[in-house]
Order: sequence, then structure tokens, then C-alpha cells
Amino acid sequence: MHISHRQHFFDHIAQTSDYPLALEIDRAEGVYMYGTDGKRYLDLISGIGVSSVGHRHPEVLKAIYDQLDKHMHLLVYGEYVQGTQVQLAKALADTLKFESKNPSPYGLINNVYFTNSGTEAVEGAMKLAKRFTGKAEFISCFNAYHGATQGALSLSGAESFKQSFRPLLPQIRNIRHGVIDDIEQITEKTAGVIIEIVGGESGIRLANTEYFKALRDKCTETGTLLIFDEVQTGFGRTGSFWAFEQYDIYPDILLSAKGMGGGMPIGAFMASQEVMQVLKTNPVLGHITTFGGHPVSCASSLAALQVTLREDLPAKAIGKGALLKSLLVHPKIIKEVRGKGLMLAAEMESFEKLKQTIDLCIDGGVVTDWFLFCDNSMRIAPPLTITEDQIREGCSVILAALDKI
Ligand code: PMP
Repeated sequence: MHISHRQHFFDHIAQTSDYPLALEIDRAEGVYMYGTDGKRYLDLISGIGVSSVGHRHPEVLKAIYDQLDKHMHLLVYGEYVQGTQVQLAKALADTLKFESKNPSPYGLINNVYFTNSGTEAVEGAMKLAKRFTGKAEFISCFNAYHGATQGALSLSGAESFKQSFRPLLPQIRNIRHGVIDDIEQITEKTAGVIIEIVGGESGIRLANTEYFKALRDKCTETGTLLIFDEVQTGFGRTGSFWAFEQYDIYPDILLSAKGMGGGMPIGAFMASQEVMQVLKTNPVLGHITTFGGHPVSCASSLAALQVTLREDLPAKAIGKGALLKSLLVHPKIIKEVRGKGLMLAAEMESFEKLKQTIDLCIDGGVVTDWFLFCDNSMRIAPPLTITEDQIREGCSVILAALDKI
């Protein structure tokens, strides 16, 4: 007989809201999760953009087992030559080896610093930009989310999220995502501009190529590092391996995490050798991590990267996203479905309608979610491996839920 952990969850797991989903999941495979009561759920959010190659992909599992048979942690970051870590860094550099009409003045990104999470990648990038430029001001977007540690939180574009934790880092300003006029606020004093290609927690916000080109030009002109936060958008989610490829703009620093790990915790900040080498001096060991680039996470990530490229998952995400958009039509309640590839938001009239829909979907065996800073839109970001039939299955449950409210 199965013993429920539900009561101990509320007693002993630190609660961060009064309304956790509190689904008790026993196991997960591909696009499905299975509750301890045997109920099957179609996962339309991939643990917030993490399980992009599906839960427990066989190649990811094999890579993890093979690595476990060799070694786990050996020494703090950057001292030993660890084969799996190096192979992953090389594979990532290979995904970034292309010419852009709007290049970085510092050349192609070919150096990777591995972290354990997205927020640590943001922290590392902020330190790198300060150290490289000798400046301290950062610009990020209103309603952007870049992580929960204090540097990344300082960048957050939502005052409600920051106000209780002040003092935070000074010299941080927000601009509007996609609004060319605001680019003027970037000056010679700005160390870095951090931006998502597709705004995630703001509820899926898109900007055009003209905007990103103006941003690139302004950063180059003012000696500001252009930092793309691809923690949610990377690893194929939006229809190309990196979302920025679709805009033909090349960043100075690139951030990754979430889907990068194939289900294991890992993140990275990446730059050209010219930029990254400043971490070697003044001080020596300019950025340290014990676990960053853990060999088991690297093995998992490398397998996820190889599966993503071999199966052409980024390109397929475009057609799958279009299918989702075409199916999610409900004139009474859905106002708009926006997004790129398999990073979508279905906007509804109100939070109440959205909440009811999400609850009814869970009853119907489909997990969706909302966004941190957009409470009238439903998050849809399934594993990229989802099939067309599974998309139809998910959409029919969502539409049936909408009919009931
Ligand atoms: N950047 C972006 C764009 C994110 O969406 C997130 C997580 N939602 C983070 C950074 C922080 O990542 P993590 O939760 O792994 O620290």
C-alpha cells in the first residue's frame, strides 16, 4: 500500500505560497507524469521548460548511468580536466559557431562557465560584465524574471517581488521589452544589458529584429555587454537551438539553464575567451563554485543536447507550436495565444477564469500553469518531444475545461 507524503509535505517542506499544486507524483516518463494514485497527467509545462527532451529520456538515463560508473564530484570547478564537462563545453561552443550580420565585437562565444542553476548563471554574468567593463550599472526589462538570488533579484523588473528584500544592488534600471525608444537609456556607464529574447515570466512577450539590432548597436557603441538570458528559451524551445538565432543578433554573454540539463540541475554563462579570461586575474579565481558543472549533470546535458540536435527538435517545435495555436481557439474565453515554437501563452479574460481552467485541466489529467508576472495567461511549454496526437489530446482537455466555466 502506498503511504502518502502529503501531510509531511505541509509540515516539513518550506512552503512558499498558500496554494501549492500539491500533486503527489510517483514517476514520470516522456510527456506523462503518474500520480501516486495511479492517475496519469500530460505535462504541458515540462517542469517550467526543463524536461524539453521529455522525462527520463533513455539516452539521458544511459549517459547518467555511464557517468556514475566513472566518477561523480572530484574537485571544485576548473581544476581537473573532466572529460564529460569538456565535451559539453565544446558541444555548446559548436552550437554558437555561426556568422551573424550583427556580431559581438569580442568574437564568437567559445568559453563556458558551468553553474548549478539559472540564477547563478545570471550572478556570474553580472560579475563578468562588471569586471570586464569596469562599470557597475545594469539595465533589464520591466516584468522580467532573472532569478531569486540577490543580484538576479535586483535585476527583476517587478517591484512587488523586490520591495521586501531591499537593500538590493544599486544602479539598476528597467526598460520596456521591445520598445526601441527606451534603448536610449543605455549609456557609457552601463556595464550590461540583460534581456530575454522571448520574455518568459512576463507572459511571453515578443520583440522584432529591428529592436534587437538597435540594442546590439547601442551596446557596441557604449561598450556595454549584451547579455541574452536564454534560461527558458534555449535548447530548442522557441524553434531554433538558441532563440537569438532567429534575429541574427549575436550576444556578448549568453545564459542557459533549465532545459539544458535534460532533467538534471545545470546552468552556464558563456562568452568569448577575450571576455571570459578576466576571471583569471584581479582576483585570481574570480568566480568559484564547488558543484557547478557536476559531471553527472554534464553527462545528462550532453545527451540532451545531442538528442535535441539529432531529432531536429527545435525545427519541429515550430510546427507543433503552430498546431497548438490552431487548436486553442475558444472565442468566448481565449483572447489570444502568443509565443514562439513551444513557448506559448493563452490569454484569458481574468485570473479567476484562468485559475478555474487550470484546476479543471488537472482534474482532466493535463498540467498547465500561469506566469509569475502575468496572471491572466496560461503557460504552455510541453516537452519538445510531444507528438501531434498528444497535442490534440491536451488541447481537447483544455477546451473541454473552458466549456465548463
Ligand atoms: N532566467 C530566466 C529567464 C528564468 O525564467 C529563470 C527561472 N524561471 C531564471 C533565470 C532563474 O533560473 P533558476 O530558477 O534555475 O535559478
